[in-house]
Amino acid sequence: MTVTEGTMTIESAVAWLGRFARDVTEQKAYLTELDSAIGDADHGANMARGMAAVMGKLDEATPSTLDELFKSVGMTLVTSVGGASGPLYGTFFLRIGTSIGAATSCDGAGLATCLRAGLGGLVDRGKAELGDKTMFDAMAPALDAFDATLASGGSLQECTAAARDAAAVGRDATVDLVARKGRASYLGERSQGHLDPGATSTAMLFDALAGSMA
Ligand code: ADP
Ligand code: MG
Repeated sequence: MTVTEGTMTIESAVAWLGRFARDVTEQKAYLTELDSAIGDADHGANMARGMAAVMGKLDEATPSTLDELFKSVGMTLVTSVGGASGPLYGTFFLRIGTSIGAATSCDGAGLATCLRAGLGGLVDRGKAELGDKTMFDAMAPALDAFDATLASGGSLQECTAAARDAAAVGRDATVDLVARKGRASYLGERSQGHLDPGATSTAMLFDALAGSMA
Protein backbone atom coordinates (compact mmCIF):
# COMPACT_ATOMS: atom_id res chain seq x y z
CA MET A 1 0.00 0.00 0.00
CA THR A 2 1.20 3.46 -0.89
CA VAL A 3 1.53 5.83 2.02
CA THR A 4 0.95 9.40 0.92
CA GLU A 5 1.37 12.70 2.62
CA GLY A 6 -1.80 14.62 3.44
CA THR A 7 -5.37 13.67 4.21
CA MET A 8 -8.83 14.87 3.34
CA THR A 9 -10.84 15.45 6.49
CA ILE A 10 -14.54 16.31 6.90
CA GLU A 11 -13.45 19.96 7.23
CA SER A 12 -11.41 19.96 4.03
CA ALA A 13 -14.14 18.05 2.15
CA VAL A 14 -16.68 20.69 3.25
CA ALA A 15 -14.18 23.37 2.20
CA TRP A 16 -13.97 21.69 -1.25
CA LEU A 17 -17.75 21.74 -1.63
CA GLY A 18 -17.92 25.32 -0.37
CA ARG A 19 -15.35 26.52 -2.89
CA PHE A 20 -17.13 24.68 -5.69
CA ALA A 21 -20.46 26.22 -4.62
CA ARG A 22 -18.86 29.67 -4.54
CA ASP A 23 -17.20 29.23 -7.95
CA VAL A 24 -20.27 27.92 -9.83
CA THR A 25 -22.32 30.73 -8.28
CA GLU A 26 -19.76 33.37 -9.31
CA GLN A 27 -19.50 31.79 -12.79
CA LYS A 28 -23.24 31.12 -13.17
CA ALA A 29 -23.66 33.57 -16.07
CA TYR A 30 -20.56 32.21 -17.83
CA LEU A 31 -21.69 28.56 -17.53
CA THR A 32 -25.11 29.54 -18.82
CA GLU A 33 -23.55 31.43 -21.72
CA LEU A 34 -21.59 28.30 -22.67
CA ASP A 35 -24.78 26.22 -22.44
CA SER A 36 -26.71 28.74 -24.54
CA ALA A 37 -24.32 28.10 -27.45
CA ILE A 38 -24.75 24.31 -27.55
CA GLY A 39 -27.55 23.50 -25.09
CA ASP A 40 -30.52 25.09 -23.37
CA ALA A 41 -28.84 27.86 -21.34
CA ASP A 42 -29.40 26.39 -17.89
CA HIS A 43 -26.09 24.85 -16.80
CA GLY A 44 -25.11 27.83 -14.62
CA ALA A 45 -28.53 27.93 -12.99
CA ASN A 46 -28.52 24.14 -12.50
CA MET A 47 -25.11 24.08 -10.83
CA ALA A 48 -25.74 27.17 -8.69
CA ARG A 49 -29.11 25.85 -7.52
CA GLY A 50 -27.75 22.38 -6.80
CA MET A 51 -24.71 23.57 -4.87
CA ALA A 52 -26.78 26.15 -2.94
CA ALA A 53 -29.04 23.27 -1.86
CA VAL A 54 -25.96 21.22 -0.87
CA MET A 55 -24.51 24.04 1.23
CA GLY A 56 -27.93 24.75 2.79
CA LYS A 57 -28.18 21.14 3.89
CA LEU A 58 -24.62 21.23 5.30
CA ASP A 59 -25.43 24.42 7.23
CA GLU A 60 -28.25 22.58 9.01
CA ALA A 61 -25.94 19.77 10.12
CA THR A 62 -22.50 18.61 9.06
CA PRO A 63 -22.35 14.80 8.81
CA SER A 64 -19.81 13.15 11.10
CA THR A 65 -18.38 10.76 8.51
CA LEU A 66 -17.22 11.21 4.91
CA ASP A 67 -19.62 8.59 3.54
CA GLU A 68 -22.64 10.34 5.06
CA LEU A 69 -21.33 13.67 3.78
CA PHE A 70 -20.88 12.59 0.15
CA LYS A 71 -24.09 10.51 0.04
CA SER A 72 -26.02 13.52 1.28
CA VAL A 73 -24.37 15.77 -1.35
CA GLY A 74 -25.23 13.26 -4.08
CA MET A 75 -28.86 12.88 -2.98
CA THR A 76 -29.29 16.65 -2.77
CA LEU A 77 -27.94 17.15 -6.31
CA VAL A 78 -30.08 14.36 -7.76
CA THR A 79 -33.22 15.79 -6.16
CA SER A 80 -32.61 19.54 -6.60
CA VAL A 81 -31.29 19.76 -10.17
CA GLY A 82 -33.61 19.13 -13.11
CA GLY A 83 -31.01 18.99 -15.89
CA ALA A 84 -28.75 16.09 -16.87
CA SER A 85 -25.97 17.49 -14.70
CA GLY A 86 -27.95 16.84 -11.46
CA PRO A 87 -28.13 13.05 -11.78
CA LEU A 88 -24.61 12.96 -13.27
CA TYR A 89 -22.85 14.94 -10.53
CA GLY A 90 -25.28 13.41 -8.01
CA THR A 91 -24.27 9.87 -8.94
CA PHE A 92 -20.61 10.90 -8.93
CA PHE A 93 -20.89 12.05 -5.28
CA LEU A 94 -23.14 9.15 -4.24
CA ARG A 95 -20.54 6.66 -5.48
CA ILE A 96 -17.77 8.54 -3.70
CA GLY A 97 -19.89 8.18 -0.57
CA THR A 98 -20.39 4.43 -0.94
CA SER A 99 -16.72 3.91 -1.79
CA ILE A 100 -15.20 6.03 0.98
CA GLY A 101 -16.77 4.22 3.96
CA ALA A 102 -17.59 5.55 7.42
CA ALA A 103 -14.25 7.32 7.82
CA THR A 104 -13.47 10.80 9.10
CA SER A 105 -10.39 11.18 6.91
CA CYS A 106 -8.98 9.79 3.72
CA ASP A 107 -5.45 9.81 2.28
CA GLY A 108 -4.39 10.35 -1.34
CA ALA A 109 -4.68 6.68 -2.31
CA GLY A 110 -8.12 6.50 -0.70
CA LEU A 111 -9.27 9.63 -2.49
CA ALA A 112 -7.99 8.28 -5.82
CA THR A 113 -10.08 5.13 -5.31
CA CYS A 114 -13.21 7.11 -4.37
CA LEU A 115 -12.91 9.54 -7.27
CA ARG A 116 -12.51 6.57 -9.62
CA ALA A 117 -15.70 5.05 -8.17
CA GLY A 118 -17.43 8.40 -8.69
CA LEU A 119 -16.36 8.48 -12.32
CA GLY A 120 -17.74 4.94 -12.67
CA GLY A 121 -21.10 6.21 -11.43
CA LEU A 122 -21.06 9.05 -13.94
CA VAL A 123 -20.38 6.58 -16.75
CA ASP A 124 -23.07 4.15 -15.54
CA ARG A 125 -25.54 7.03 -15.71
CA GLY A 126 -24.50 8.77 -18.89
CA LYS A 127 -22.43 6.22 -20.86
CA ALA A 128 -19.94 8.92 -21.85
CA GLU A 129 -16.63 7.99 -23.43
CA LEU A 130 -13.50 10.03 -24.05
CA GLY A 131 -14.10 12.53 -26.85
CA ASP A 132 -17.91 12.73 -26.51
CA LYS A 133 -17.58 16.40 -25.41
CA THR A 134 -18.93 16.02 -21.87
CA MET A 135 -17.77 16.46 -18.29
CA PHE A 136 -16.07 13.06 -18.71
CA ASP A 137 -13.46 14.75 -20.94
CA ALA A 138 -12.30 16.87 -18.01
CA MET A 139 -12.78 14.28 -15.28
CA ALA A 140 -11.10 11.22 -16.79
CA PRO A 141 -7.77 12.98 -17.52
CA ALA A 142 -7.92 14.60 -14.07
CA LEU A 143 -8.14 11.19 -12.39
CA ASP A 144 -5.40 9.76 -14.62
CA ALA A 145 -3.13 12.64 -13.58
CA PHE A 146 -4.07 12.12 -9.93
CA ASP A 147 -3.15 8.42 -10.18
CA ALA A 148 0.12 9.09 -12.01
CA THR A 149 1.20 11.65 -9.41
CA LEU A 150 0.24 9.26 -6.62
CA ALA A 151 2.26 6.45 -8.24
CA SER A 152 5.34 8.65 -8.34
CA GLY A 153 5.03 9.34 -4.62
CA GLY A 154 3.24 12.68 -4.80
CA SER A 155 1.47 14.19 -1.80
CA LEU A 156 -2.30 14.69 -1.72
CA GLN A 157 -1.67 18.35 -2.52
CA GLU A 158 0.47 17.46 -5.55
CA CYS A 159 -2.08 14.88 -6.74
CA THR A 160 -4.96 17.34 -6.59
CA ALA A 161 -2.88 20.05 -8.28
CA ALA A 162 -2.05 17.65 -11.14
CA ALA A 163 -5.73 16.70 -11.40
CA ARG A 164 -6.70 20.38 -11.57
CA ASP A 165 -4.23 21.07 -14.38
CA ALA A 166 -5.30 18.01 -16.39
CA ALA A 167 -9.00 18.87 -15.96
CA ALA A 168 -8.31 22.33 -17.42
CA VAL A 169 -6.50 20.81 -20.41
CA GLY A 170 -9.38 18.33 -20.90
CA ARG A 171 -11.90 21.17 -20.67
CA ASP A 172 -10.08 23.21 -23.31
CA ALA A 173 -9.85 20.19 -25.62
CA THR A 174 -13.67 19.97 -25.74
CA VAL A 175 -13.73 23.05 -28.02
CA ASP A 176 -12.67 21.03 -31.06
CA LEU A 177 -14.92 18.06 -30.33
CA VAL A 178 -18.28 17.23 -31.90
CA ALA A 179 -20.77 16.32 -29.15
CA ARG A 180 -21.93 12.72 -29.07
CA LYS A 181 -23.83 12.78 -25.75
CA GLY A 182 -26.39 15.07 -24.16
CA ARG A 183 -28.30 17.96 -25.68
CA ALA A 184 -25.29 19.32 -27.57
CA SER A 185 -25.25 16.11 -29.67
CA TYR A 186 -28.50 17.25 -31.32
CA LEU A 187 -26.42 19.98 -33.00
CA GLY A 188 -24.02 17.52 -34.61
CA GLU A 189 -21.12 19.32 -36.31
CA ARG A 190 -22.45 22.69 -35.16
CA SER A 191 -21.44 21.80 -31.60
CA GLN A 192 -17.80 22.13 -32.68
CA GLY A 193 -15.95 25.34 -31.79
CA HIS A 194 -17.55 25.68 -28.35
CA LEU A 195 -16.37 24.75 -24.86
CA ASP A 196 -18.53 22.12 -23.19
CA PRO A 197 -20.35 23.62 -20.18
CA GLY A 198 -20.17 20.43 -18.09
CA ALA A 199 -16.44 19.99 -18.74
CA THR A 200 -16.05 23.61 -17.63
CA SER A 201 -17.88 23.05 -14.32
CA THR A 202 -15.85 19.84 -13.80
CA ALA A 203 -12.62 21.81 -14.21
CA MET A 204 -14.00 24.13 -11.49
CA LEU A 205 -14.68 21.09 -9.29
CA PHE A 206 -11.01 20.03 -9.52
CA ASP A 207 -9.76 23.58 -9.11
CA ALA A 208 -11.82 23.77 -5.91
CA LEU A 209 -10.44 20.41 -4.75
CA ALA A 210 -6.83 21.51 -5.28
CA GLY A 211 -7.54 24.82 -3.57
CA SER A 212 -9.03 23.19 -0.52
CA MET A 213 -6.26 20.58 -0.11
CA ALA A 214 -3.44 23.13 -0.52
P1 ADP B 1 -29.09 19.61 -19.61
O1 ADP B 1 -28.23 19.14 -20.73
O2 ADP B 1 -30.13 18.62 -19.21
O3 ADP B 1 -29.65 20.98 -19.86
P2 ADP B 1 -26.99 20.79 -18.02
O4 ADP B 1 -27.08 21.92 -18.97
O5 ADP B 1 -27.03 21.15 -16.58
O6 ADP B 1 -28.13 19.73 -18.31
O7 ADP B 1 -25.65 19.99 -18.25
C1 ADP B 1 -25.10 19.84 -19.53
C2 ADP B 1 -23.78 19.12 -19.44
O8 ADP B 1 -23.98 17.79 -18.99
C3 ADP B 1 -23.06 18.98 -20.74
O9 ADP B 1 -22.29 20.13 -21.03
C4 ADP B 1 -22.20 17.74 -20.57
O10 ADP B 1 -20.93 18.04 -20.05
C5 ADP B 1 -22.96 16.97 -19.52
N1 ADP B 1 -23.57 15.76 -20.07
C6 ADP B 1 -24.70 15.68 -20.80
N2 ADP B 1 -24.96 14.39 -21.11
C7 ADP B 1 -23.97 13.66 -20.56
C8 ADP B 1 -23.65 12.26 -20.52
N3 ADP B 1 -24.44 11.36 -21.12
N4 ADP B 1 -22.54 11.87 -19.84
C9 ADP B 1 -21.75 12.78 -19.24
N5 ADP B 1 -22.00 14.10 -19.25
C10 ADP B 1 -23.07 14.53 -19.90
MG1 MG C 1 -28.51 22.65 -20.18
